[in-house]
Amino acid sequence: MEFQNFTILKRDGSRDQFSLDKIMTAIIKAFEAVDESYSIGSISKIISHLDIKDDIKVEDIQNQVEIALMKEGYFSVAKAFMLYRQSHTEDRETLDKLNFLTAYMEAANAATGSKFDANANVEHKNIATLIGELPKSNFIRLNRRLLTDRIKKMYGKELADKYIDLLTHHFIYKNDETSIAPYCASITMYPWLIGGTTGIGGNSTAPTNLKSFCGGFVNMVFIVSSMLSGACATPEFLMYLNYFIGKEYGVDYWQHADKVVDLSLRQRTIDKIITDCFEQIVYSINQPTGARNFQAVFWNVAYYDKYYFESLFGNFYFPDGSQPDWNGLSWLQKRFMKWFNKERTKTVLTFPVETMALLADNGECRDKEWGEFTAEMYAEGHSFFTYMSDNADSLSSCCRLRNEIQDNGFSYTLGAGGVSTGSKSVLTVNLNRCVQYAVNKGMDYKQYLEEVIDLCHKVQLAYNENLKDLQEHGMLPLFDAGYINMSRQYLTIGVNGLVEAAEFMGLEITANDKYKEFVQGVLSIVEKLNKQYRTKDVLFNCEMIPAENVGVKHAKWDREDGYFVPRDCYNSYFYVVEDESLNIVDKFKLHGAPYIEHLTGGSALHMNLEEHLSKAQYQQLLKIAANEGCNYFTFNIPNTICNECGCIDKRYLHECPKCHSKNVDYMTRIIGYLKRVSNFSQARQEEASRRYYAGPKKMTV
Ligand SMILES: [Zn+2]
Repeated sequence: MEFQNFTILKRDGSRDQFSLDKIMTAIIKAFEAVDESYSIGSISKIISHLDIKDDIKVEDIQNQVEIALMKEGYFSVAKAFMLYRQSHTEDRETLDKLNFLTAYMEAANAATGSKFDANANVEHKNIATLIGELPKSNFIRLNRRLLTDRIKKMYGKELADKYIDLLTHHFIYKNDETSIAPYCASITMYPWLIGGTTGIGGNSTAPTNLKSFCGGFVNMVFIVSSMLSGACATPEFLMYLNYFIGKEYGVDYWQHADKVVDLSLRQRTIDKIITDCFEQIVYSINQPTGARNFQAVFWNVAYYDKYYFESLFGNFYFPDGSQPDWNGLSWLQKRFMKWFNKERTKTVLTFPVETMALLADNGECRDKEWGEFTAEMYAEGHSFFTYMSDNADSLSSCCRLRNEIQDNGFSYTLGAGGVSTGSKSVLTVNLNRCVQYAVNKGMDYKQYLEEVIDLCHKVQLAYNENLKDLQEHGMLPLFDAGYINMSRQYLTIGVNGLVEAAEFMGLEITANDKYKEFVQGVLSIVEKLNKQYRTKDVLFNCEMIPAENVGVKHAKWDREDGYFVPRDCYNSYFYVVEDESLNIVDKFKLHGAPYIEHLTGGSALHMNLEEHLSKAQYQQLLKIAANEGCNYFTFNIPNTICNECGCIDKRYLHECPKCHSKNVDYMTRIIGYLKRVSNFSQARQEEASRRYYAGPKKMTV
């Protein structure tokens, strides 16, 4: 056969000229390895069996060589050739790891060093974080194999191949492919309250008093988090804490919090004991943990106004038959927020991520007291999310999820609705690439998107079957013990590059009808398919993913492949993050009802401001949010950390207010997590520096 100028596809995806010499050399080496004699004639005969096409993969050529050797009866040579391939594969893998190790050691920080999937939440780079990084590439391979095997079984080889094709060409992105655990969960703590951690493999018994609650809670959260790849939300945390304080000091403890109840030399008051509980829990949970390769656990908590509280816990009973007490909880929630805000001027505390759930009615907070308190906390510089809805039927109980209470129903045995939910797995569509690919090929982009999104649903169902298989083999005690409910966990379809796709289509990214139509057109495809694939056991949701890496990765890959890429990190919002012409109201509008109505996951507006507003101004903004139907948002004002004296100030300053050093770092929110800017990955730091923080002139309230 004639070998002309063929190109071959190498393992790293690059192309090279086909070389007959290289193949002949490899075959001759195999002959020599087993001392088998050969001639140019016999080698030519083996080569004549090969069928070389343009863009053939190296592996395919090698497979053909093996078959050709066997066809010609050189069985021992074929075996030698296979062993030779194997040892080369192993060498390559080891070399890859060595190169990675060297690069990681030299990287500026842990997030930049991580090649595959930087943990949002690793502060330091050390031997423990390196141990966590090394097996990531193997996990990716294993996860792809597990998933494609299942897809083949359920839908055939063609779909499995199509999945890998879309994945490797970056039309879709599988989040957390480096982990094998389900994604995130908002747990109910009820099983722990009844039976301690024994049901999930721990050895502590049920908490019986305030002390065992505080210690046990930390252990429980660590165990739960070790079996998840993402966040662990404990929406009942303060409600349970209130219960245990009440058991110790009476349900009305908060009315005499200054009473001395500790008769040791320390003479602590109830209030001081409560502060000690907060300290113990929050500082313990912010510790890096061995089980998560030196990451802290991703811990979320929720605060409720009276209406949400009643809707969620109105039918809740503790094991002793008593019900949660709103007055005590309301006091404790405020106490915790005030404490946490103050504590953050002493040290960088990323967790818990907090969400305030408020019920709105005609643009007003129904619970006046809690609406006011929310504005007060923002004015005091505290940073937290607000979830505001005009009916109590939906709730963000996990940082990422809007969850319909009506759908979930109530379960007395498992605690209450709105709890024990979360996301099993996230599969993200790169909208910018999909839309451009379709338009460039002269296709209807909506039709193409529907094809891609339909595939995503099938892939997610395959993932779900694998998860059920794990559960059947006793591998998921969180589900078995009732902390999470398999059928209430969502399969998430993520979207990224929405704004960029709209920009490619020539649309102006402001609150105008054409842009709105585009957004609705795209997101309603996901919503339609979410409904279509939904069964009583399987739920789908859609969110604009706030992942720390994907936006950067997509922009880089798309640019390399010649697509239109207007910025280095794809937006996580409906507006352009560096656009200086938009004012605060514009941004609320662009995260208002018409834009978010097809999303069912937490896509929080991060309102970046240069300086803090007054309580009255924040109250006004809460009203605007309620009127626009923007249900999930936070205000982000960079806090200043002095690198010289360690002072933390809630304001965005260019000089330390104490020692006047200009060597300052900032603490800001990167997609949910409050972190030091210098600990972000390189690409993220660049994004943060371009981010526009609205100054006083943009605050039209
Ligand atoms: Zn200083």
